[in-house]
Amino acid sequence: MTLDPALASLAARTKGFMPDDEAAALRGAAAAAAPGLWLEIGTYCGKSTVHLGAVAAERGSHLVTLDHHHGSEENQPGWTWHDQSLVDPRTGRLDTLPSLRRTLDDARLESAVSVLVATTQQVAPWWTSPLTLLFLDGGHTEETAQHDYAAFARHLLPDGVLAVHDVFPDPRDGGQPPWHVVQRALAEGTFTQVGVYGSLRVLRRTRVACAEPMTGLSGTAGQDPHP
Ligand code: SAH
Ligand code: MG
Repeated sequence: MTLDPALASLAARTKGFMPDDEAAALRGAAAAAAPGLWLEIGTYCGKSTVHLGAVAAERGSHLVTLDHHHGSEENQPGWTWHDQSLVDPRTGRLDTLPSLRRTLDDARLESAVSVLVATTQQVAPWWTSPLTLLFLDGGHTEETAQHDYAAFARHLLPDGVLAVHDVFPDPRDGGQPPWHVVQRALAEGTFTQVGVYGSLRVLRRTRVACAEPMTGLSGTAGQDPHP
């Protein structure tokens, strides 16, 4: 799916970690998802949010983008991906929320995008809404990556799209937790892989009714909130 030139140029100048080719693949994956509620985990300054939000607006979907806005480990002072200009002088902490607000104002995507400022650990216990797309691009420690998958992928409806960023099967290319998440999703049998674009993996939730014998109305209710 091509992006409106004004939005493409906004995305290009927005700080973040989403190369153009992977962004195009992400838009393609989103365009193939059913209209509904979409969840992005890992907003930063809104680069990928512009790409996903543009498709959401066009498809009649609503995008929730979730981030505590204090950055991941690798964004902290002394680490490779630290940007001093994003530090709030009052608190001394990284704060990407002001940049995100500017990005969304410029994009005019406010009606298609809701900003959720919280940790994924805070949101997981109360989130109940079924999703037709989930983009995992938040914390990349093993604990957080596994948590985010376990907490939110369960809300994907059958045929729902699961996109995972920064997937590096070879440890020389990058950290392994997102790769472990993809392997887990495939091993659990609840997802099939439909695309690989650089470090972006696109999976689809398989129809649960086909994968499991129907044993009764409440058979899998405890494990799957939206069978
Ligand atoms: N999608 C963005 C990049 C996201 S970077 C882009 O296109 O550029 C990863 C983000 O995950 C950071 O902004 C960080 O603040 C956020 N993050 C890390 N751990 C988190 C957690 N436990 N809860 C919420 N957000 C988290
Ligand atoms: Mg990423």
